[in-house]
Amino acid sequence: MPNKETRAEIEGQRFVVHKHAARQLHYDFRLEIEVVLKSWAIPKGPCLDPLKKRLAVQVEDHAIDFIDFEGVIPRGEYGAGSIIVWDRGTWSADDDLSAAYRLGKLKFCLHGEKLKGGWTLVKIGTGPDATSGSRWLLIKERDTEARDLQEYDVLTHQPTSVISGRTVDEVSGDAG
Ligand code: MN
Repeated sequence: MPNKETRAEIEGQRFVVHKHAARQLHYDFRLEIEVVLKSWAIPKGPCLDPLKKRLAVQVEDHAIDFIDFEGVIPRGEYGAGSIIVWDRGTWSADDDLSAAYRLGKLKFCLHGEKLKGGWTLVKIGTGPDATSGSRWLLIKERDTEARDLQEYDVLTHQPTSVISGRTVDEVSGDAG
């Protein structure tokens, strides 16, 4: 078994944003930290505008294999609905994100196709247990990748999957 450092060097430290048409459409932001995908559900989706702080509710850690999942989760199962890989890439950070995570404030750079530059995830309230329900804010830092929401909304300008080019509605059709 490679240790953590070796693993990061081999695979990079990845992130994914799933667009998830469940009962309520939302986006799931997932960071590969150690051996899991730390996950947050963002009802309004990420925003490139530093003035628009987006609520991110922590949900269960997901297995790393889920990072490339695109398809339909059947009715009755956890997360039922259709999912596309809205963005993916790697992240980097000056700090140890595992420690920062425990302290409730993560600062990192994203190297995705849609999300780039500096971001902060900060915990604003606790949930029922250590890994779910706590409330965080996802905030774009002011840098050259920031955009005024009035001028450019990445969610509406770039709605499709970065791996298939499909919309979440097109993926829904797979259920037959
Ligand atoms: Mn979800």
